[in-house]
Amino acid sequence: MINYSYPLYRPPAEANNIILQVTHGCSYNHCSFCSMYKSKDFEVKSLDEVHKEIDSLARSYPEAKKVFLADGDALCLNTGHLLDILKYLKKSFVKLSRISLYATSQNLLEKSDEDLSLLKENLLNLVYFGIETGNESLLKKITKGVNAQQIITSLQKATKAGMKTSTTVILGIGGEAYTQEHIKDTAELINQVEVTYLSTLQLGLDEDIKSTFLKHFDKFIMLSDKQVLDEQQKFLEFLNPKNKVIFRSNHASNALHLAGTFPKDKQRLIAEVKEALEEGAKALVPKMFRGF
Ligand code: SF4
Repeated sequence: MINYSYPLYRPPAEANNIILQVTHGCSYNHCSFCSMYKSKDFEVKSLDEVHKEIDSLARSYPEAKKVFLADGDALCLNTGHLLDILKYLKKSFVKLSRISLYATSQNLLEKSDEDLSLLKENLLNLVYFGIETGNESLLKKITKGVNAQQIITSLQKATKAGMKTSTTVILGIGGEAYTQEHIKDTAELINQVEVTYLSTLQLGLDEDIKSTFLKHFDKFIMLSDKQVLDEQQKFLEFLNPKNKVIFRSNHASNALHLAGTFPKDKQRLIAEVKEALEEGAKALVPKMFRGF
């Protein structure tokens, strides 16, 4: 029996995998747009407790191949602690092929290249990472705690260690005033790194963090769906990644769902956005079915 601490979040791609909570909350917890862990105090779970939960999960799902480590930035754990968990997982699930977690820039920058390689050797081979924006002013306004160069360096460190990176960008996060800089600088940032997966989400603000988010802007005007699609189109046009990138825009927040691979599908994806812009609301996911 696993005693999960709620709320519990995991990436959509981990829906059918084992979720093992190794921390509670987010060690940073200051991004102004994010309400995920505002109700939780950050806490590291003891190795004893984690081992017991792994034993229990292994009895229930002995054939499991993939494990996701929750909560918000499990890579904040010190390397020795995390290695113990990875090794215990490998020993307990004989078919294990992938361990993944959410990571921040700060987490990756704090780890040495040797530590990251060691974690990768022990099956930590995918990190989920929120880029959000590549624009310096916006990174300050959303209190992300890092600048664009730090985001680039941290993603390069993950790639150098051989880890796959699944990254997200938030359309509309600069409102009307920052739309151009947001899209151009974010695409430019991604063009300098080698992410494996890239997704665009669409900004939504929960009531409990709205005032915190808005206080960093003189006047924040939320984008309409049409303006968000304009951002999506420009973002796709500016994107010229160095490597093959699997692109998705299929989060619950998205007005328009897209899927393809860069560079092969770039023009098709742009054409789909243009078509949706021409068709208007009937081409979009109804607002009642969306959430951030
Ligand atoms: S690092 Fe991630 S989980 Fe933590 S506050 Fe920022 S967006 Fe939320």
